[in-house]
Amino acid sequence: MELQEKLSILAGAAKYDASCASSGSKRASSGGLGAANPAGVCHSWTGDGRCISLLKILYSNVCRLDCAYCMNRVSNDIARTSFTSDEIARLTISFYKRNYIEGLFLSSGIFADPDIVMGRLIDTAKLLRRDHGFQGYIHLKAIPGCGDRLMREAALWADRLSANIELPTATSLLALAPQKDGQTILGSMRFLRDGIKENETSSRQTRRRPPFLPAGQSTQLIVGATDDSDALILRLANSLYKKMDLRRVYYSAYVPVSTDARLPGVAPPLKREHRLYQADWLLRFYGYSIDDILESAESRLDLDIDPKVAWALRHPEFFPVELRTADYERILRVPGIGVIGAQRIISARRSSSVNAENLGKLGISLKRAGHFITVNDRPPLDRRCGQNDLRALFADGKNEPAPLKSTNHPLQREFAF
Ligand code: SF4
Repeated sequence: MELQEKLSILAGAAKYDASCASSGSKRASSGGLGAANPAGVCHSWTGDGRCISLLKILYSNVCRLDCAYCMNRVSNDIARTSFTSDEIARLTISFYKRNYIEGLFLSSGIFADPDIVMGRLIDTAKLLRRDHGFQGYIHLKAIPGCGDRLMREAALWADRLSANIELPTATSLLALAPQKDGQTILGSMRFLRDGIKENETSSRQTRRRPPFLPAGQSTQLIVGATDDSDALILRLANSLYKKMDLRRVYYSAYVPVSTDARLPGVAPPLKREHRLYQADWLLRFYGYSIDDILESAESRLDLDIDPKVAWALRHPEFFPVELRTADYERILRVPGIGVIGAQRIISARRSSSVNAENLGKLGISLKRAGHFITVNDRPPLDRRCGQNDLRALFADGKNEPAPLKSTNHPLQREFAF
């Protein structure tokens, strides 16, 4: 098969994996090709919001497993092919030199024993790093069930590894991916977490730090393939952040790839994925708890309004927040004021006064925040909506930042995947 045809098949097969954003690596450039530090890596996005600044491909779409939600499952009748490590290394360097990509995201179907699959991914990273002097970002799939020696080796060559947990409960895994074992996947995460900690401790003692997963580990959760609630999904994500030190959990809306009766016939609304990312952000950076965001284990996120606005509307007793005196955590609860806005308000208060006129200069939009604040004990808007009107004002994405648009990336134009 021609290389171009392989690329088309294996890049197309990789597009369902959302766990590829490249932020967070601090791998230093040592005179080779490329750099993985944040300034050297930029992102572009597909129309549905997924990152494509990396060459995102599968090593092989041949898979022994039969996960019902996956187009590469063994029972699916599709064209199958595999790269060699050398082909991927040459493609990566060629695209990098043409300025198409900043790095590589390499996953694979389980075409053989986990040790063999992990070994091929490692060989590819080694070729890039050693033979081509590539210092750019490399994200490899951690193949659950491979031996510890191989997992450690992968962590030394890659910037990030991701073991995908895919479904939030053992029951869901058993129903749709019975050959997968949640405990084995969690075992891989635990091994990587311990390796990262150990590396940090030993590098503090010896002042030498071999690059052991400088961008940490991530995972992906598929949303809408089962009827698991948003509360269940977010509870798992929250626990993975806390217990496994994950850098990111990616939420990927299920794409119907089968008429299997165990699966829903339609995709969940993409808005659900978007709301989960917003809730995830509140958990990690805004000090919200799961119980703040969702009331019970069965709860789902409100698709019409973002979870921060939803909390504000459920807690009218908390508002208005007086910007001259409120503490940082309180200001952060105001819809329309983010982490940077709250920091700016606190720092502006130290040197001068905060008033309704200079809020715009601090990056605060009164259109959103104005309904929830006072400045010098006065509401900054002439007319403030009541609770009922607020929901209508913020519903259906009104007053939300615009979604990301497709960039018509040159790699997509050239290879049509
Ligand atoms: S193991 Fe991965 S590639 Fe294979 S069927 Fe399951 S999800 Fe798809």
